[in-house]
Amino acid sequence: MKKTIGIPRGMLYYEFFPLWEAFFMEIGYEVISSPKTNKDILDMGIEACVDEACLPVKIFHGHVEYLKDKVDYIFIPKITSLYKREYCCPKILGLPYMIKNSIDDLPEIIDIEINTDRKGKFEGSYGKVGKYLNISRREAIRAYRKIEDNKDKNREWLNNIMPKNPLRNKTERIINILLLGHSYNVFDEFMNMGILDKLSNRDIRIIVAEDVSEEDIRMYSDKIPKRMFWTHGRRSIGSAFKLIEDEKIDGIIYLSSFGCGLDSVLVHLVSYRAVENNIPIMELTLDEQTGEAGFNTRLEAFLDMMKWRNRNEDNISPSR
Ligand code: SF4
Repeated sequence: MKKTIGIPRGMLYYEFFPLWEAFFMEIGYEVISSPKTNKDILDMGIEACVDEACLPVKIFHGHVEYLKDKVDYIFIPKITSLYKREYCCPKILGLPYMIKNSIDDLPEIIDIEINTDRKGKFEGSYGKVGKYLNISRREAIRAYRKIEDNKDKNREWLNNIMPKNPLRNKTERIINILLLGHSYNVFDEFMNMGILDKLSNRDIRIIVAEDVSEEDIRMYSDKIPKRMFWTHGRRSIGSAFKLIEDEKIDGIIYLSSFGCGLDSVLVHLVSYRAVENNIPIMELTLDEQTGEAGFNTRLEAFLDMMKWRNRNEDNISPSR
C-alpha cells in the first residue's frame, strides 16, 4: 500500500496544490488533502493556535488537526522566497515551527525550505524531500523537473473554485469587480463567507489577481517609489494598478485579514490609486469574530451603490 502525504487545505495550498500533488504522486506517494474549511476545522484551529495569529493561520492549524491521524506525513514547507530578493510573510516562513509547537501527536512533518537558488530555480528545494522519504535527492529532483509545468496550471485549477454561474442579467451593463487579497482569503469559501457566490449571484463579473500575468504585475508594482519585497504584496499592488489603469474594473473589494501587517499597508496603497482614478473600493476584514449579517450588509450596500452609479450617475465618492 502506498504511503500517504497530507496537504492541508490552507495558506499557500491555493497557489501550489497542483504542483505539490503532481510531485508526490510522481515519487510514488498518495496525496490526501483536508476537506474544504468548515466550522469544525475553524474550531480546531482556534483551539490549537495562539490567539494573536491571523485567521488564515488559525484555519491552517485546523486543517492539520484534521489530517494528523489520517496520513503518514504532512507536507508543511517553510516557504521563504518565491522570487529573487523577495520574501513571504514571517508567518508563512514560520508555519512548520508554529504547527510543531502547537499541535501534539503529529505524524512526521515534511518541512523542507522552499527558496529560489542563484539561478532562480526550485528543484533543489524539492530535492530535500529525500531527507524524509525513501528517495534520493537526485531522483526527487528528476521527478520535480518532470512535473514542474504544473505550477503554470494553477489559474486553470482555480476555476474549480470560481463560481460557474454565467452572467444571467444581460440587460444591465455588467459590473466588473476585482476581488483582491491573499489567495487563501479569496478562495477559501468558508473564510470569506461565500463571497464568490454572493457576487456571482448578483451578476458581478469577478476578476482576481491571478488573472493578471506575472510580467504585468511586476511592471505595474515597480511604479511605487520603494521596491516591494513581499511577493504577495507585489501581486496585489501590481494586479490592482494594472486593472485600474486599463479601466478594466468598476470597483475593488479588498479582503484583508484582521491583524495582518502586510494588508494594513497594501490596502492603503491600493486605495489611494483607486480613489485617484475614481474607482470605488471597500475593505472587508476577516477574522473569527466577523458576523455574516454585518458582512452581507456592507457588501450589499457597496454593490447597490455600484449599480446605481453605473445606471444613473458618476459622482458618488469612491472613498471607502
Ligand atoms: S500575510 Fe497576513 S494574512 Fe497572510 S499569514 Fe501573514 S499575517 Fe497572516
